[in-house]
Amino acid sequence: MAACLIRAFLLAGFLVGCAALNYAILADLNAGRVLSTQTAAGSAMLDAARATDPALDAYLQEHGRPDHLLVEGETIELFYLETDTVTRFDRTSLEGPGEVSVSEGANDFLARRRAAQREAEEQRAELRKQQEAQRKTAMEQLTRVTVPPPPLPEAGSAGPAEAPPTAVPDTGSFQEEYVEPHSTAFIPLYQLLAQNRGLANLAAVLNSGIRMPVSVTLASEECGKLNAFYNRASHRISICYELLATLAYQFQRTTNADALLSGTLTFIVLHETGHALVHIFQFPVIGREEDAADQFATWTLLHFGASGQQSALAAAVWFLRNANSRFVSKLDYANEHSLDAQRFFDILCWLYGADPAANSSLVTQGFLPRGRAARCPAELNQMQQSWNTLLGPYLK
Ligand SMILES: [Zn+2]
Repeated sequence: MAACLIRAFLLAGFLVGCAALNYAILADLNAGRVLSTQTAAGSAMLDAARATDPALDAYLQEHGRPDHLLVEGETIELFYLETDTVTRFDRTSLEGPGEVSVSEGANDFLARRRAAQREAEEQRAELRKQQEAQRKTAMEQLTRVTVPPPPLPEAGSAGPAEAPPTAVPDTGSFQEEYVEPHSTAFIPLYQLLAQNRGLANLAAVLNSGIRMPVSVTLASEECGKLNAFYNRASHRISICYELLATLAYQFQRTTNADALLSGTLTFIVLHETGHALVHIFQFPVIGREEDAADQFATWTLLHFGASGQQSALAAAVWFLRNANSRFVSKLDYANEHSLDAQRFFDILCWLYGADPAANSSLVTQGFLPRGRAARCPAELNQMQQSWNTLLGPYLK
């Protein structure tokens, strides 16, 4: 786990897009979906898999393309309907050949799967009906409540925002720090990070781009909670060992865990940097600051071309995993963060908005709804304009 994590950290900030990461992201997005290889999604998934696995490629050359495929964790199953066979590849990594087994019953499996999907769709339809009824009741209750309008500000009380300073001092910088943990369980992680200066690349990237009047510390440390956060008093971004260990655990059985970890960590550090910039430069924020921090992370990554987009996609996959792994309770709506599923769709939207032609597969493969996608270029444009306006005077 630790070696994988340190490689991820060293990659952070200098990501290189690669076929393996493409595969890892597609595998996560398509996990558990039976895909026909006649569709764009199925075809892309199969091509991504064979591009990273010589054993699978050789098998396909010998036996031809399957009719369907199913990817789940480290397993890829190929369904050949004519011979009624299922070929299963079990792999622990893409670097070595995995176990291959062939069994019968492809048609049976697909028939059962389709029946289960139909049943799930029926249940979802029923749930939607119930939610619609609840929404109607809630709306009726709401219309009975009258809220007095807020008082209007007095004339002249709200002047124009102050112009940014013309000469911004560049007397601070982003600095790295690795704090020795109390828990012995985190000692190996700390030693690896400290010895390899795992946060150096990200600090260097930020220092090359932003004029900072004060220094901000990027610190890996034990926090007693599973989190990453910015402390306003100490100008300190804490990346908790608890979070790092959990991320490594979450991705440990994922093909190309390094790349997914690296992208997610880069996004998390940039998200916290977004909070730091809002605080230090006293940027106005209209809407949730948490959304603005996600915007800053994505906006920054979009400056790094394909590799930056891959990092943002990796973070989106992490949000999707979190969304899929737990039920949403009412208390989640009280949280200052958008829901994990919303953060997933937001990142996809901004990536699509940045280059609809190059990222059209996000829509054609069913990850981003067409209705949202149509507005994403304008949404991204507005977001970029906002960050350019605010941060422009502070950029080197
Ligand atoms: Zn935040």
